[in-house]
Amino acid sequence: MKKLIQTSGETKVQIDAYLRKNHPEICRHWFDEIEPVGVDSGTLSLLVREPVRRQYLQRTCLTQFTEAAQAITGRLLAVRFVGDENIDESKRKINSSPTSETTEFEEQLTLSPDYTFETFVVGPGNRLAHAAAIAVSANLGGAYNPLFVHGGVGLGKTHVLQAVCQMVLKHKPSTRIGYLSCQSFSEMFMGCVKSGRMQDFRHRFRSLDILVIDDIHFLSKREQSQEEFFHTFNTLYQSGKQIILSSDASPNDIPDLEERLVSRFNCGLVARVDRPCYETRVAILKSKSTLINIVVPDDVCAYIAARIDSNIRELEGALTKVRGYAMASNVAINLDVAKAALAGDRASSSRSNLPTIQMIIDAVIVYYDIKLSDLMSKRRHKSVALPRQVCMWLARKHTRYSLEEIGGYFGGRDHTTVLHAVRTIGNRRDEDPDVSRAVDRIEGSFVRENPVD
Ligand code: ADP
Ligand code: MG
Repeated sequence: MKKLIQTSGETKVQIDAYLRKNHPEICRHWFDEIEPVGVDSGTLSLLVREPVRRQYLQRTCLTQFTEAAQAITGRLLAVRFVGDENIDESKRKINSSPTSETTEFEEQLTLSPDYTFETFVVGPGNRLAHAAAIAVSANLGGAYNPLFVHGGVGLGKTHVLQAVCQMVLKHKPSTRIGYLSCQSFSEMFMGCVKSGRMQDFRHRFRSLDILVIDDIHFLSKREQSQEEFFHTFNTLYQSGKQIILSSDASPNDIPDLEERLVSRFNCGLVARVDRPCYETRVAILKSKSTLINIVVPDDVCAYIAARIDSNIRELEGALTKVRGYAMASNVAINLDVAKAALAGDRASSSRSNLPTIQMIIDAVIVYYDIKLSDLMSKRRHKSVALPRQVCMWLARKHTRYSLEEIGGYFGGRDHTTVLHAVRTIGNRRDEDPDVSRAVDRIEGSFVRENPVD
C-alpha cells in the first residue's frame, strides 16, 4: 500500500497566498474551496469537486500550482487535481484509476468556470438573452428552439452560451452536450471528410441532447460545412433536441448564409445583446472583482465604468490593468492608482492585434487617393462608392465589429448597406482582377503596418 502523507490546511493556505502574489491572473475566489487531500508518491492531490473547475485548473493552472507547491514545501512535488470519484471517502485514499464516467463528450467540452449565470450581470442590454437562456436551461428543446443570441464583440454571448452548458451539467450531468466554436465544427468536419470518417462525425453530432455553436457567422462561405450543419440542425431539431447559436449579426444579416439556414435560425427566439449601460458596467466590475478576489472601491468602479463604454472585455481589461498597476506599486487599489493606470489609455481596441477601422480607412484613402470627407460622405459617385465598399468589406473581414457598428462608423449607414457592400466586393473580387488586386494591395499595407506580436 502506498504511503499517504496528509497535507495540512496550512500548506494550502500558503499555496493560495503564493499564487495570489505571483500569479494573480489565475486566482479565483473559489480557490478557497479546493481541499488538499495528501501527498502520494511525490504527488500532491487537490480535491476539486466541480468538473468544469477541475478542467480549468488542469488546463491552465497546473504549472503555477506546481511551482507554488514546490516553493512552499521545498520538495520536488507534482500536483494533480482530483474529483470526488478519485477518492475513496472512507479512507480518503487516492485512487489512481482514470476519472470514471467522463464521456467522450465531456472531454471535448472546454468551458470556463468564470462563465456561469451566477457571475452574469443582467441589465437592459442583455435581459432578453439572459431570460431566454435560463428558460432554455430549465427546459431543453421545449422553451425556445433554436435560441439565437447575437450582438457585438465582448458583450457576453460566449458567457451566456457557456452558462447554459454549466447549468445543464450541474442539474443533469449525463446530458450529452456539444459546445464548440464554429471554426472547430468546420475543422472537425473537414478532418472527417478527409479521413473518410463521416459516419463518426454524424453519429457524434446527431446523438447530442444539446448542440451549442459559438460564432456561427463563420459558417458563411464554407459551403460544404453549411450543408452538413444544415442536416445536423434538422436531425437534432426534429428530435426535439436543443440548439443554441451565437453570432455577431442577426440571421438575416450573416453574409452568404443560405436562405434555408436563415429561416431555420429565425424559427426559435432571436435575442440581441446590446452594450451595457453605466449601472450595468459598474455591477459587472463589482462581480468581476469578487470573482478574481480583489477589493475595488466604489469610486474606482465608477471611474472605470464611466471611462470605458465600448464592451465588457475592454472593461475587464481596464480592471486587470488597474490591479497590475496597484500590485507593481505595492499599494491597495484606489482612485489615484486607477487614474494613473488608465492614463492615455484610449477606450476600445487598445491592446488588440486586429487592425483598427481607422487603419483600414487610412490605407484605403492612400490607395485610391481620395479624401476622408468624401469617403464618409453620402456621395454615390463610383470614385468614392467603390473605396467605401472596399473599406466596409475589409472592416468586416479584419475587425470584430458587427454590420451595425461598421455602418455606424461610416456616417450612420444602415447595416443592410454594409451587408450589400460586403457581398458586392466579395463577388467583384472573384470577377474583376482590378478589384481583387486593389483589395490585396490595401490589405498588404495595413497588415504590414500592424505586425502581430
Ligand atoms: P462575446 O462572446 O460576446 O464576444 P464574451 O462572452 O466573451 O463576449 O464576454 C467578454 C467578457 O465579458 C467575458 O469575460 C465575460 O465574462 C464578460 N461579460 C460579458 N457580459 C457579462 C455580464 N453580463 N456580466 C458579467 N460579465 C460579463
Ligand atoms: Mg464570443
